[in-house]
Amino acid sequence: MKLDTRAIRYLTAEDWRVLTAVEMGSKNHEVVPTPLISQISGLRGASGVNKSISNLAKVGLIAKVKNAKYDGYRLTYGGLDYLALNTFIKRNSVYSVGNQVGVGKESDIYVVADESGKQRILKIHRLGRISFRTVKANRDYLRNRNAASWMYMSRLAAMKEFAFMKVLKDSGFPVPTPIDQARHCVLMELIDSYPLRQVTTIADPPKLYADLMSLILRFASEGLIHGDFNEFNILVHEETQEPVVIDFPQMVSIDHPNAKDYFDRDVQCIKTFFERKFGFVSDEGGPSWQDVKRTGKLDVQVEASGFSKKQAKELDKYLQQIAKHEEPAEEEEEGEEEGEEEDAPADDEDQEQDQAGVEGKQDRHSDNIT
Ligand code: ADP
Ligand code: MG
Repeated sequence: MKLDTRAIRYLTAEDWRVLTAVEMGSKNHEVVPTPLISQISGLRGASGVNKSISNLAKVGLIAKVKNAKYDGYRLTYGGLDYLALNTFIKRNSVYSVGNQVGVGKESDIYVVADESGKQRILKIHRLGRISFRTVKANRDYLRNRNAASWMYMSRLAAMKEFAFMKVLKDSGFPVPTPIDQARHCVLMELIDSYPLRQVTTIADPPKLYADLMSLILRFASEGLIHGDFNEFNILVHEETQEPVVIDFPQMVSIDHPNAKDYFDRDVQCIKTFFERKFGFVSDEGGPSWQDVKRTGKLDVQVEASGFSKKQAKELDKYLQQIAKHEEPAEEEEEGEEEGEEEDAPADDEDQEQDQAGVEGKQDRHSDNIT
């Protein structure tokens, strides 16, 4: 689902209040009844509320839910995007939105700019979109979720990613500087780089390999496993060829029950990639789980930074379900009707893993939105 910011500057203060009211009402109501929207918005006079409702529905920020026992609306992902962007705009974190540079499995990545024109990366988490056409068996847990709960999960992913990036950056890890977070969005430094997957020449593969392995060990010594340490999530600076690690929603503590498996998988991903791409196989085995010497506690520190254990568990449960379903090669089930509402975060575009950042570094022209 694309981020379409065209309508953002036409919304009135009342429209924003009504949009916020729909979001608040969604916490307890799958379909927010119109009188409740009116009540939460605190606006006097039904006509103003109705006018805003119709404005918002016209641009797809809320959607009327038919077939409900009562007349009501729900927030769409577009509406949530606007609320998050508006927060960033008010905090002066974002001034304009530019090109989309990546479509991940569960995120959309845009280049944005602040008022001075400084470019940043906006990562919009969109959990739930891979889970319908691609998942065959055993999907009750995923299917029974409604759009609101996907939005909640996406928000947890953004909160987690931001919290982890902060402690990692503060501890000197090569990660983009986290700048801001609102709802399901993370704003971070733009790294002038290509994902390792796309880099055609690496001057010194053994050095980069060694750097990456020592990074995995350094994460672990601080109590963390990246959990998705692969050629898509490692950016390589064009000039310095220094690696920068991204993508943290699945990061776990080394006390996690599956930590060893994740650690081994991270190591193996790098080995496989270097062998396939550069024909490089290290003389040294490992690193292995036994090599991990825990000296720090970033996993504990991150809990204190606003992402609680309970939230971590909720998100982890979801991510594990996804991982379980992903393992066999995904088959597309063409023509299957899932009966989802139009913006339920289903796969509205053909998602290809490989396309993450395909457009990579391209002209990063921005459209003003304020
Ligand atoms: P996902 O969780 O969907 O995989 P990622 O965080 O891995 O999302 O980002 C997807 C792609 O977006 C990356 O492969 C990269 O091309 C681009 N990207 C993400 N963050 C940055 C950044 N800070 N600077 C430059 N490019 C980025
Ligand atoms: Mg990624």
